[in-house]
Amino acid sequence: MSMIIERLAVIGVGLIGGSFARALREAGTVGAIVGIDTDRSNLEQALSLGIVDEIAPDAAQGVRDAQVVFVSVPVCAIPAVVREIAPFLPAGCIVSDGGSVKTAVVQECEALMPPGCAFVGGHPIAGTEHSGAGAAFASLFNGKRCILTPTRDTDAGACDTMARLWRSAGANVCSMEPGHHDRIFAEISHLPHVVAYALVHAVGTADVEGENVLSYTAGGFRDFTRIASSDPVMWRDIALMNRTALLASIDGFSASLAELRQRIDRSDPAGLAEFFTIAKQFRDGIL
Ligand code: NAP
Repeated sequence: MSMIIERLAVIGVGLIGGSFARALREAGTVGAIVGIDTDRSNLEQALSLGIVDEIAPDAAQGVRDAQVVFVSVPVCAIPAVVREIAPFLPAGCIVSDGGSVKTAVVQECEALMPPGCAFVGGHPIAGTEHSGAGAAFASLFNGKRCILTPTRDTDAGACDTMARLWRSAGANVCSMEPGHHDRIFAEISHLPHVVAYALVHAVGTADVEGENVLSYTAGGFRDFTRIASSDPVMWRDIALMNRTALLASIDGFSASLAELRQRIDRSDPAGLAEFFTIAKQFRDGIL
């Protein structure tokens, strides 16, 4: 593929930022990549793995000649990072992010852009429960969606450049309004993580005649709770940033669980079979 941008700055060279850098390098769509990260040892690992070509001494210097700055830090930190770099952005620079929550991030970051620079919100729908540069790999986004969340004010050319970059990284790009994104992902991503954390928390603290019940876990429990091994700071931020939509999803789930509880409580075989059958049909339908 031919080069799309000559210089990319990645702030937060972890799983997502590092994988984006690796994918673009493999596709040949970026020239030089500079890394910025608060975790010095992570940054040095990114350099030694060839994910970035250079380490910037600070964010201001790192973004100086960049055509695109990709911010991939926990969502609550994204606006503060963009505020810090805004005075140092070169003319025409595009700032984008990979954060899992969009409304607040896009609103704040768009307002921080100096004249001539553009912010494009983004969220790759790919990941693992691992963190850091060492967990990054080039094929992470292959065949996965990447959602861009432009607003009425987003520069169309900047959005097009980000779409081309993500496509070159292997992603299928689509666009939607930030609020719509947050309500969808509250249901299909943020709620499952909260439920997995709550389940492991409940079982981990359960006392069954003094036994450590977790020592009896097998495939089902482990499959269901894999995502509870995700980074707690990342998920703290997502829960806080998408609070309203997530609370609505938790309420919907609580109602569903209460309904299931009632059917068990009244020993209702037909009601239980119906409930489980409907859920199984939904689940089978997505496979
Ligand atoms: P990660 O692997 O933990 O990498 C984030 C890196 O950013 C860490 O090295 C972290 O250092 C650093 N950092 C934190 N605050 C910073 C700051 N203010 N300035 C510079 N560097 C900073 O995280 P990730 O999984 O790639 O997630 C990054 C973003 O992608 C998040 O917004 C997340 O919502 C989004 N996302 C994640 C996934 C997923 O499955 N992981 C999927 C889609 C989107 P410290 O460790 O010292 O904090």
